Amino acid sequence: MYERHKGMKEMIEKNDWRLQGQERYLIGEKFIFKKYQMKSEKWDHDHCEFCWKKFMETDDSNDEIINEGYSTVDNYRWICKECFNDFKEMFKLEIIN
Ligand SMILES: [Zn+2]
Repeated sequence: MYERHKGMKEMIEKNDWRLQGQERYLIGEKFIFKKYQMKSEKWDHDHCEFCWKKFMETDDSNDEIINEGYSTVDNYRWICKECFNDFKEMFKLEIIN
């Protein structure tokens, strides 16, 4: 798949440890920036699709746990701010809010 992206700015290495085949489901996805909300009592957190940082409903976010980021419209996939900025061009990610 990297052939298609030859023209892009080469800021992120193709062998970045966070790249794990997300192109199978993330290319061109639409995202909304918002506070994390847990899905149910049993499903109270999610992980960044790239760096695996933890999203939780919390007031004190830190390096490991964050409370806001970019989610797909269906709330299913979450990406932290840092990874979103790093990969938005490579994956043609769109923000719709
Ligand atoms: Zn991340």
